[in-house]
Amino acid sequence: MVISFCFVKFLNGTFVTFVLQIVSKMIRLEHYDEVQVQLTLVIISDKKTKLDKNLGEEIVLFHKKFQKSDDKFDFIKGLNGSTYFVKSDQQAEELRVIGAKIIAQLSKEAKSLTLIGSASEQLFIAEGMILASYQFIKYFKDADKKKLNLESICLSKDVSAKKLAELSDTAKAVFWARDRVNEPVSHLNAGQLAEAISELGNEAGMTVQVLEKTQIESLKMGGLLAVNKGSIDQPTFTIVEYKHEKAINKKPIVLVGKGVVYDTGGLSLKPTPGSMDVMKSDMAGAACMAGTIYLAALQKLKLHIIALIPATDNRPGLNAYAPGDVITMYDGTTVEVLNTDAEGRMILADALAYSNKYKPELVIDAATLTGAALRAIGTKASVIMGNADDKVFDQLEKAGNEVHERTVRFPFWDDYAAEIKSSIADLKNLGGPNAGMITAGKFLEHFVKSPYIHMDIAGPAWLDAKEDYKGQGGTGAGIRLLFNFLKKYK
Ligand SMILES: [Zn+2]
Repeated sequence: MVISFCFVKFLNGTFVTFVLQIVSKMIRLEHYDEVQVQLTLVIISDKKTKLDKNLGEEIVLFHKKFQKSDDKFDFIKGLNGSTYFVKSDQQAEELRVIGAKIIAQLSKEAKSLTLIGSASEQLFIAEGMILASYQFIKYFKDADKKKLNLESICLSKDVSAKKLAELSDTAKAVFWARDRVNEPVSHLNAGQLAEAISELGNEAGMTVQVLEKTQIESLKMGGLLAVNKGSIDQPTFTIVEYKHEKAINKKPIVLVGKGVVYDTGGLSLKPTPGSMDVMKSDMAGAACMAGTIYLAALQKLKLHIIALIPATDNRPGLNAYAPGDVITMYDGTTVEVLNTDAEGRMILADALAYSNKYKPELVIDAATLTGAALRAIGTKASVIMGNADDKVFDQLEKAGNEVHERTVRFPFWDDYAAEIKSSIADLKNLGGPNAGMITAGKFLEHFVKSPYIHMDIAGPAWLDAKEDYKGQGGTGAGIRLLFNFLKKYK
């Protein structure tokens, strides 16, 4: 590969831009015609790559040294900003992480980055860059000063317009989800979450129906109503439908997301440090599923998908549901409440039972459901389990590995269901001291009549400290995984 640079012909502003809607902080992904040396360059090269002399002696010499070194990534500062060098013989995830490193140490002045390398290498680096560019700074007085100045990432025409649009849409969906997760309950209650999902519907051509409290009452969704009892804010139940006219699935795929917009634990109150203080993130499953169906619609996947989002906060208000209560759920099952902090399964159970009316071919839920899942495998993967066909699990696992949103499948033996039997009702909402993520899954399975996968995203949905392109706070975990799974769905 010989990389040459053009001094004479500058870019003339005829960029192809793929951002459909103006999103102020979204970086544009564009095609370039010719490389312009004044821009900040990222050069992905192998041992045989020769740089054009026009680039300047210093950079050419630096590159030669870099080629001989064991370093996978390096950069040189120049008058016009830095030039970054990346070795091409790296895994997709290594390239994404390098993309994030470049964003982290990018100079304030850089407004545009130009990538040079093979199509797939450019894409992986651009993916890391655009995901790492996310900021949640709206509450700072000087947000403008904190804002990343980068406006565009330019890729060669070897990268197809379709791939650029897909990456841009992916970032939009992930950013939307991160914004919702990072938004505190003071600014995002159940009604506001439903409103935000409705806006997605308008933009991407999905139908959105928001059921309000009176409708939820007439449907007798006892689980959702019980959790909402201690709250002043009303619950919502949002139904999103996306159907491609040539959908390959005759029966829909139903996605269910836990929308606990804030979880105090209720009367079984949580401690504050390291627990209640991040509980605005307890609707990350809702953000994940709304983001996933939004992305599927933007990308016009040939599928029929429905997303169900039950939402409320969980508080120890005056009339809050109490340990010992028996609740009659939407499907008539009675549940003895033994811990009001196990509220996610109460609202999910109603949504899962509601999914039965569609006779889906597959039901997947995503929920920040248990501390047990987080303790078992940390933040590096989602815990998955269920009764769907092994083939579907294999496809999900493979899809996750490709985008580095990995899954770990846990056992789902019926033995575990014995732990959620109650002495006075059909079920209790708490299992024994061990394997809490599995007993929670068995509780949920009781309500679903279709092939089912439960995703406990309590680990990867939230990061206390910044981590490469996943950022700090809400990560949007699950969207890239599920979109990749749905894209290849047969
Ligand atoms: Zn809880």
